[in-house]
Amino acid sequence: MQVQCPKHKDSQFLYILPKENEVEFICDQCHSNLSTRQQQVQLQNLINIRKAYQHPEYLFSRITNSEILQEFFIELIECEEKNLNYQIMEIEKFIKEVQNQLIVMQQELYVYKKKYMELRLQIREKLEEIIKFDQFKKIISNLNHLEKTINPQDIKQSERDVYNYFQDSILKKQLSLNNQIFTILNYKNQQTRESRINYPEWNKLNQLYKQINEMHTSFNIMINPKFPGTIENTFLLAREFQAKLIDIIVKKSNKPITKIELIHQECQSNLNVQTFWNKVDGKDNLLMVFQSEKEYIFGAYSPCQWVKSQRGQYVSDETLTSFLFSQTKNQIYPIKQDCRGYAIYCCFQNGPVFGGTSLLNRAIQYFQNKSDLHITSNFQNGSSSLGTSYAIEGNQTQTDFEINLFGLDAHKITTYEIFQLSFN
Ligand SMILES: [Zn+2]
Repeated sequence: MQVQCPKHKDSQFLYILPKENEVEFICDQCHSNLSTRQQQVQLQNLINIRKAYQHPEYLFSRITNSEILQEFFIELIECEEKNLNYQIMEIEKFIKEVQNQLIVMQQELYVYKKKYMELRLQIREKLEEIIKFDQFKKIISNLNHLEKTINPQDIKQSERDVYNYFQDSILKKQLSLNNQIFTILNYKNQQTRESRINYPEWNKLNQLYKQINEMHTSFNIMINPKFPGTIENTFLLAREFQAKLIDIIVKKSNKPITKIELIHQECQSNLNVQTFWNKVDGKDNLLMVFQSEKEYIFGAYSPCQWVKSQRGQYVSDETLTSFLFSQTKNQIYPIKQDCRGYAIYCCFQNGPVFGGTSLLNRAIQYFQNKSDLHITSNFQNGSSSLGTSYAIEGNQTQTDFEINLFGLDAHKITTYEIFQLSFN
């Protein structure tokens, strides 16, 4: 856009400034004149005209209200073709270095081979000396010379010679002879240890390979957009929130999700605690989603295993991955570090319970009816007291703690879904 700003001579429009009921084209100088607080807030929404004109992804990411899509498209624009080309060229440089290094590495093998051959020769010479090898050789070569005119007596004589050689030169002085050999081997061993074979060129090649491997990995990350995650078969979770939940679970668990399976879906007429326990008993990594009579949608995720306990028991989440959420309020309530022992409460007389408090200085983890989320035995009624074991952030009132999940004056749930997650 090459339109002059009417307020500032020699200054062209650079940005679109979105306002509540209109937008305004502004130039650099208009921009620096914006200083009040409200205008600063608007500044965050400033759209660069040139960039928006070239990249619809940028334009959309500046306007959309979806954080997930915004993140996705910003990342998509940031990975420019010239960056990719640069990466490939860098890798190419390393490939050439690796090729050269392969040749040097091969030469190194010859050098070490030569050293080994020398060592072997030295040991051989010492051995020949100690076992008087030339005597043996003489006997055999004498026999060879007789080759054509050979007679049984000569053979017998040679056999005796060899026998005598074995006896006199080796077997009779075995002890001292072995000692001599051990001494020599020990000496050679120390010598070689000092000039250890450590293959510097081979190590260098490995180092180069490691670097190429890292570059390859980062290239691979660049060309694989992080598509928003989705959860199939849900009536309750909106697409945006599905992606948000998946993102949080992956980040907290620090491992990729391989599968999300709907294991139970129930509504009004069929809500009961027996069915719930039959579905979840022994299972872990469960994501539960509830809808209240006020149509508030909320739920929880915990890696903890649900056990149909008779006495009732809290299950601890040492990984601190558990959290509650409200889709309606677009909020996440992570488990508090010092409350990890109260991630979930399992008791066949109750529905799912998240969070709790202890009596008697934690001596007894006795279940009281104060939890961050509690669905009762009839599986209709529930209550919520956020901030008990799960953190609620920002300036929120005591009332918010109690109504954020179900909504005002709502204590019933009408529908719920349970998903089981699998990880790599
Ligand atoms: Zn201006």
